Amino acid sequence: MEQRFDCLVIGAGMAGAVSARELAERGGKRVLVLERREHVGGNAYDCFDKAGVLIHKYGPHIFHTSNKRVFDYLSRFTPWLNYQHHVVANIPEGEGRLELPVPFNLISLRTVFPPEQAAALEQKLLDTYGAERKVTILELRESEDPEIRALADYVYEHVFVRYTMKQWGQTPEEIDPATTARVPVFLSEDCRYFQDEYQGMPREGYTPMFQRLLDHPDITVETGTDALERMKLDGDRILLDGEPFTGTVIYTGAADELFACKYGRLPYRTLDFVFETKPVDHWQSHGTVNYTVDQDYTRITEFKYLTGQELPGVTTIMKEYSRAYTGEAGEIPYYAIINEANNALYARYKAEADQYADFHLLGRLAEYKYYNMDAIAARALELCDELLK
Ligand code: FAD
Ligand code: UDP
Repeated sequence: MEQRFDCLVIGAGMAGAVSARELAERGGKRVLVLERREHVGGNAYDCFDKAGVLIHKYGPHIFHTSNKRVFDYLSRFTPWLNYQHHVVANIPEGEGRLELPVPFNLISLRTVFPPEQAAALEQKLLDTYGAERKVTILELRESEDPEIRALADYVYEHVFVRYTMKQWGQTPEEIDPATTARVPVFLSEDCRYFQDEYQGMPREGYTPMFQRLLDHPDITVETGTDALERMKLDGDRILLDGEPFTGTVIYTGAADELFACKYGRLPYRTLDFVFETKPVDHWQSHGTVNYTVDQDYTRITEFKYLTGQELPGVTTIMKEYSRAYTGEAGEIPYYAIINEANNALYARYKAEADQYADFHLLGRLAEYKYYNMDAIAARALELCDELLK
C-alpha cells in the first residue's frame, strides 16, 4: 500500500511545528504530526483562563534571540509585541523586603551597599572585568581580591544558592556551570533579563503562532494522540499503524520513552504550577519576581506584564514549585539534569535511535538539552536544511 505521508513528526512544540512546516513548504512533503496533548505549541502553549487572562500553562515563555534567521522565520507567523523582560529578586531585609534587579547588576549593587562602598566596589569591578561585561557567579567567587570575593559571597547567598537548591535540589557548584551562567553578574545598568537583539511576545499569543505554522495543506495534525501507540521501532524497521514506514521521522519527545526506558529513566526536574487570580490591576512589581532566599516556590510570574493584556481589575499570577521527576502519569519532564552520568545514559538511547535510517531526535526533550525556544527553532531549520539538500 502506498504511504499517505512522506514524513512523520512526533510532537507539535517548537521543534515539531517548525520542522513540519519546513518539510511541507520547502520540501513539498506530506507530513503527519502526532501530538500527545490536546493542543499544539508544546510547553510554549498559552490560553485564556476563567478570568479571561492570557496565561502560559507550562511556565512563563518570553521570546528572545540574536538569531536573525529564527526571528525572520517566526515573524512570518506572528506579529510581535515589544516586550523586554525584567526580573527582580525579592528578599527579606529587616522588617520588610527588598527587590533587586536580576541578573545582579550595578543597580542591584547600589541598592544593597551604602553609596561609598558601592562606588568603590563598582570601580573595582569595572577595572577588573570591564564595563558591560557578564561574569558568572562561579568565576566571581574565584577572584583573588577579598572585596570582590565578599561581594560574590553576598550575591551567591542572596541570589543563587537557595534558588538553585529549590530549582535543582543541588548547589550551584553541583549543577552544570552553564546553568548558572545563564544569569551572570552583569556590570551594567541594563536591568533587562535578556540582552538579545530581538525580544518580544507573539502579539496574539503563542498558540495562534503555532496554529499558523502548522496551517498548511500538506500538514495533517492529530492531537490527543500518543505516537508511541501508533509508531513502533521494530528491529531495523519503523512501523506506523502496523505498516512499514520508510519516510523521514522527526521525534521530539523524551529519548528514554522511545525505548520503554530500558536502560533506566533519564533524570529530569518537573514543576508544579499554582495559578491564583487576584481582583487587582497588578499584583506584583515586575513580570517575574524570584524568591531567592525564602518561600518554597522559586518564582512568581504575573502574565499581564508579559502579554501586555489590558484587563482592568483582575490579574493571574503563577507560582512555580520544582521537584524530582518520577515518570508518574501526568508529570511532565521540564528540565534535563545535565551531568556526565546522565549524558552517558542519554548517549545509550541516542545510539539506539541512530540505528534507524532517517530517524531524527530533535528538541529539548529528545536531545536532553537545556535549550531556549530560539535554539530549538534554529536546530529545526538546520535539520531541515540537511534533509532537504
Ligand atoms: P516541547 O515544547 O516540550 O514539545 C514537545 C512536544 O512533544 C510536547 O507537546 C509533547 O506533548 C509532545 N510529545 C512528547 N512525546 C510524545 C509522544 N509520544 N507522542 C506525541 N507527542 C509527544 N524558552 C525560551 O526561549 N524563553 C522562555 O522564557 C522559556 N521559558 C521556559 C520556562 C519553563 C518553565 C520551561 C520548562 C521552559 C522554558 N523555555 C523557554 C524553553 C522552551 O519551553 C523550549 O525551548 C521549547 O518548548 C522546546 O520545544 P520542543 O518542541 O523541543 O519541546
Ligand atoms: N538562578 C538563581 N537565582 C535567580 C535566577 C537564576 O540561582 O534569581 C540560577 C538557577 O540555578 C536557575 C539558573 O540560574 O536554574 C538559570 O536561570 P533561568 O532564569 O535562566 O532559568 P529558567 O528560566 O530556564 O528556569
